This record gives sequence, structure tokens and C-alpha cells, in this order.
Amino acid sequence: MTATLDFAGVRLPAIGQGTWHMGEGLYTPEEEAEALRRGLDLGLKLIDTAEMYADGHAEEIVGRALAGRRDEAYLVSKALPSHAGRDAVVRACERSLARLGTDRLDLYLLHWRGGTRLEETLEGFERLVEEGKILRYGVSNFDVDDIDELAALPGGERCATNQVLYHLGSRGIEYALLPRMRELRMPTMAYCPVAQGGVSSRALREHPEVKAIAEARGISPTQLLLAWTIRPRDGLRDILAIPKAVQPSHLAENAQSLEIELSEAELARLDRAFTPPQRKEPLDIV
Ligand code: NDP
Repeated sequence: MTATLDFAGVRLPAIGQGTWHMGEGLYTPEEEAEALRRGLDLGLKLIDTAEMYADGHAEEIVGRALAGRRDEAYLVSKALPSHAGRDAVVRACERSLARLGTDRLDLYLLHWRGGTRLEETLEGFERLVEEGKILRYGVSNFDVDDIDELAALPGGERCATNQVLYHLGSRGIEYALLPRMRELRMPTMAYCPVAQGGVSSRALREHPEVKAIAEARGISPTQLLLAWTIRPRDGLRDILAIPKAVQPSHLAENAQSLEIELSEAELARLDRAFTPPQRKEPLDIV
């Protein structure tokens, strides 16, 4: 059964698509736009981007991908902390909308916390909601104390999500942040779910336990990592992972991961190999 979750009032597949490093010349813009369209065809409905990525070029690629298909996607972008002021965040959003070629974002996030007072950013977000330019807002890279501060502010209770780093090799948020977000009924967006595809990703994929479980299930180690990230915890699925992928084989694997449910025994083996946090750890970021 395809893994879905209730994400801020919308039922979404639990795997979406990231766009960091798109627009930087690793692939052509058309290859990247085609990858996003392919991902949509495969059911990876949420597309995550940011004004920061390639100085706006990633948003342009998303716009190119969504031409004529905007309604099929759940579109997320992010404002830089330097644009988090009451008026600045409105202007930043308008620039993002222009690059994306759309009149609205489904979700707009503060990329990370900077020097601007959260009250101000929330006022800007609320104005964007009133003007129909964004449907919901949220944050990214917020640890427990930031989330608590936010939740206590006017409009803070309407924060739809917190986008944070999470994968099998980085489980620190399980100790305090995930429980707190669950108390607030706030779903999590997991970034770098395959540990960015580089050296640390390879170390995870080549871990003997990961390899053994994946082989026994007939899935790839990356699929195991994704299925693990979005696994239901205590019967509730509230994590949505946003792997970035351009290669068609990667997209196909990632979409197939929506169908993989790990057993209690498999999860227990992974807990023994990758111990859950025993105390509060600093929030992992990239
Ligand atoms: P990911 O963990 O998504 O790794 C992306 C890399 O993994 C790419 O090189 C990709 O290759 C490769 N990959 C994807 N699928 C597979 C697969 N099935 N098998 C093997 N390799 C695969 O890292 P990201 O840093 O991109 O994080 C995901 C997204 O999260 C970002 O793109 C961005 O949207 C968001 N993000 C948010 C941050 C924040 O501060 N809020 C910080 C970092 C990320 P290829 O592209 O060649 O197919």
C-alpha cells in the first residue's frame, strides 16, 4: 500500500522531491525539469525548493517543470533569514512566485532562524496567507527551544511543519524534537533522507546490516533508508522525506519505496546497528 500521511490537512505521498543543487550545472536545466516531471508522474507530489538554491535558478527549473501542471504538485519554497522581516518576506515570496511561474505556494518556510524576531516573520506569513500567495507556512532547522518559542506566538499554532535533517545515520531529533512536534500535531519534513548521496550516504548503504536487510527484501539500500525515514512510529506516520534525484533510476527507486513497509524485526535490527539517541543532541544541519 502506498505510504501517505496527513500533511497540514492534505493527504500526500510520504516521499516528495528535493531540488538543492539543481540549477548548478550538474545536469542541464531540461534534464532537471524532466526529472521533476517524471517524479510527479511516479507520484512524488511534493516539490521542495528555496530562493537560496542556485540563487533562484532551482525555482526557475521547478517553474519550467510545472508549466501546465501546477495543480498536480504540492509546492514548497523557503525564504532566507535575511528576507524574514515583515515586508521583506512578502517581497521574497513574490520573487519566488515569479521565478516559479505560479500565483501561490502550498507551503512557505523560513529556511533557518536568523536575527529577525519571529513575530515579524509570522506577521509577514499571515499577510501572504490573506493575500492568497501562500496556503500554509512553516519553518526549517528549528530545534525544540525554537519550536516552543514559535508555538507560543500569535500564529505560531498555525505552523504547518518543521523541515529538518533526518536519516538512519542521524537520529538525534528522535529524543526531543520529534516527540515535541508530535505533541503539537506538526508533521516533519525530513531533508537529506539518503545522506546526500556522497561519502556518508555510501557508508550507510554499505553498512552490513543495511545491506543484509535490503538484500533479503530484494530492495536497494537506498530504498531501505527511505522506507525507514518515513516509517510509522507508534502506529502514526508523520514524516515526509524529500530526496533529491535527477537520474531516472533513482526516481524510480525512490517512488517504489512508498510501497515498502519494514517489519518490527527489521526495525529492531536497525536500532541495534544505529542506536537511537539516549540524550538531547544538538540539531544536525548541513
Ligand atoms: P539527499 O539525501 O536527497 O541526496 C541527494 C543525492 O542522492 C543526489 O546526489 C542524488 O543523485 C542521490 N540519490 C537520490 N536518490 C537516490 C537513489 N535512489 N540511489 C542512489 N542515489 C540517490 O540530499 P539533499 O541534500 O538533496 O536533501 C534533499 C532535499 O532536502 C534537498 O534537495 C532540499 O530540497 C532539501 N534540503 C533542505 C535543507 C534545509 O536546510 N531546509 C538542507 C538540505 C536539503 P541524482 O541527483 O544524481 O539522481
